[in-house]
Amino acid sequence: MLSAKIVIVEDENDIREVLTYNLEREGFRVWGAADGVLGLKLIQDKVPDLILLDLMLPGLDGLQICQKLKGDKLTAAIPIIMVTAKGEEHDIVTGLDLGADDYVTKPFSPKELIARVRAGLRRGKPIDRENDRRLENDGITIDLDRHEVSVDGERVTSFTATELKLLYFMALHSGRVFTRDHLLNKVVGHDSFVVDRNIDVHIQSIRKKLGKRREMIETIRGVGYRFRDSGER
Ligand code: CA
Repeated sequence: MLSAKIVIVEDENDIREVLTYNLEREGFRVWGAADGVLGLKLIQDKVPDLILLDLMLPGLDGLQICQKLKGDKLTAAIPIIMVTAKGEEHDIVTGLDLGADDYVTKPFSPKELIARVRAGLRRGKPIDRENDRRLENDGITIDLDRHEVSVDGERVTSFTATELKLLYFMALHSGRVFTRDHLLNKVVGHDSFVVDRNIDVHIQSIRKKLGKRREMIETIRGVGYRFRDSGER
């Protein structure tokens, strides 16, 4: 099997070279571009398995590229990891809402980056996970049809329908960062039973019920939440 293809769009040469070096050492096939317009062309040409995308770029910026990729059938499903600078929280949130999967903040360790890339590639696999009605993830079992959650084999019966929906959605897309808006509008939706429209309250309640496994839901400061990917630890 051929190794995964990765395109890096990053205008800082040092960072692009470090990324390329580390990814090639892991056996990935890597292509890089230093400019947004060329980067978009490269992605459309290679149709890679994953994209590392800087936000501040000459030509087209990262958010514009993200929008174009998600609007094109050919590239819509390719996982995007944004490579961001400190203080770009607002752009990170916009990027995630546009459909990017995840982000890393400069400076990052190669080890962390490789773990994120591997998690991204797993998510990009064309397995029909949407039909997975029962998930098992690090001691947490979620059965959507039976409306059941177990933590280390112990059934927890107190989950509300909304909490179950949120937990299931995040576990299904483990490793991916979701903004509060995304969770509220795309997952909770306009369920008339939902009293509290504050996502933090729901997450807090879910964590409490997960007990020892509460750390499986990670808070991403200024951005949102994610369910840890089991490959990360
Ligand atoms: Ca840049």
